[in-house]
Amino acid sequence: MTDVPFSCQCGEIRGTLHHVTPQNGNHVRCYCNACRAAVLYTTGEDVGTRGVELYQTTPDKISFQQGRGNLGVFSFSPKKLLRFRAICCGVQMFTMLPTPKFALAGVMTNLLEDKTAIGPIAMEAFVPQPDGRSKHSSILRLYGGTMWRALVARITGRWKQTSFFNIKTGQPVAEVYVPTPEERAKLPL
Ligand SMILES: [Zn+2]
Ligand SMILES: [Zn+2]
Repeated sequence: MTDVPFSCQCGEIRGTLHHVTPQNGNHVRCYCNACRAAVLYTTGEDVGTRGVELYQTTPDKISFQQGRGNLGVFSFSPKKLLRFRAICCGVQMFTMLPTPKFALAGVMTNLLEDKTAIGPIAMEAFVPQPDGRSKHSSILRLYGGTMWRALVARITGRWKQTSFFNIKTGQPVAEVYVPTPEERAKLPL
């Protein structure tokens, strides 16, 4: 088990991902429109059909050593996935469900100092198919591992160890910004 440092692009936010192994999380490449749109929205870069790489773990495995106050949050729709970004340099850093009770955190792997510990990509999500639909490469692992980790976190109370929500109110640490229709119109949503 390894602790892996991460930082935002400018280095203002610094933290550590704890107990990292390929089995303790899911190293995923996601091809969904929302992930593509989020990168375009935050960096101006279009990943196109390359997808976005995430390591899915639980929020208690993420600690901050510096700059946590620079976290901002946006979501493409009020009840959907929350996307935590660095307000200092803009980059998206984490994805999370809108409730802390379901302990799931996706970490953008390009922000990790060293990707060795998370292992190779173990599954792909929303892979485009020739018929225009999409599918997941390993659905049992993708949902099974995530559900199991969240369930354990719920039962043990570990879900309360989060740097991303106020546990008393259930609200994220920063106000959720929903991009305007004008901003959304430029994105592949
Ligand atoms: Zn996605
Ligand atoms: Zn930054």
